[in-house]
Amino acid sequence: MTTTVVIGGGITGLSTLYYLQKERKRQAQQMNLILIEASEALGGKIRTVHEGDFIMETGADSIVSRKSNVAPLLDELQLTSRVVYNATGTSFIYTDQGLKKIPEESVFGIPLSMQALAESELVSAEGKVEALKDYYTPNKSFTKTDSLGHFLEAFLGKELVAKQIAPVISGVYSGDLYELTIASTFPFLLDYKDQYGSIMRGWRRIKQSIWERATKSFCRSITVRLF
Ligand SMILES: Cc1cc2nc3c(=O)[nH]c(=O)nc-3n(C[C@H](O)[C@H](O)[C@H](O)COP(=O)(O)OP(=O)(O)OC[C@H]3O[C@@H](n4cnc5c(N)ncnc54)[C@H](O)[C@@H]3O)c2cc1C
Repeated sequence: MTTTVVIGGGITGLSTLYYLQKERKRQAQQMNLILIEASEALGGKIRTVHEGDFIMETGADSIVSRKSNVAPLLDELQLTSRVVYNATGTSFIYTDQGLKKIPEESVFGIPLSMQALAESELVSAEGKVEALKDYYTPNKSFTKTDSLGHFLEAFLGKELVAKQIAPVISGVYSGDLYELTIASTFPFLLDYKDQYGSIMRGWRRIKQSIWERATKSFCRSITVRLF
């Protein structure tokens, strides 16, 4: 009989073990499965802390529904009905002038419409006008191995990237936008640009189709990001 050892009981180890168990069952195989976890609790970076009336996630607090491998796993685990969507869609960036709202209709700080761009409290009028070039400037040279920062800046302008997009994306990836490639972060943005002629228009269309497909339950929550 074979013995398979999974080291680490974070989401990676737990899902590996889950799929190994499924495989063992499917093949009606004799296989010992062992999980080794160094700490006292499973979950790794994912942990929920309850303090008085507050519930706090110390690590991951959201999933990206656009990613095609997450939804089937949630379905299998019968967790789909427990997914909670952010009903307010409201996030803030803390600036020198205090908290400034990121326009609701935006993702990772990227506005999805002219209205969302116009509503921004983070970017000047000049910065907004500059960002409009996304709608009429075609992509002639960027490929997925190029820098994400340079790609976004070329179409959405320096100010929007610096004040509204970089604080969000750099927080998620813990890195400098200009040193991250498009391929390792948002490869689909280049596809949207090429297919729809505009990053903002493309992402809006895709988001609309995802939201139309989703069965939604709502909670009220606010996300604050530091800038
Ligand atoms: C603050 C924060 C917010 C985040 N927000 C999000 C989010 O909203 N959405 C999202 O998708 N991702 C988010 N992430 C990233 C996500 O949480 C991690 O990518 C993911 O949880 C990593 O899972 P993992 O199993 O690979 O590693 P880990 O969660 O680090 O698990 C590794 C496990 O292995 C154990 N281990 C390590 N070494 C040994 C050893 N030698 N022997 C035995 N056990 C060992 C550890 O104790 C740990 O339990 C966030 C991360 C952080 C820190």
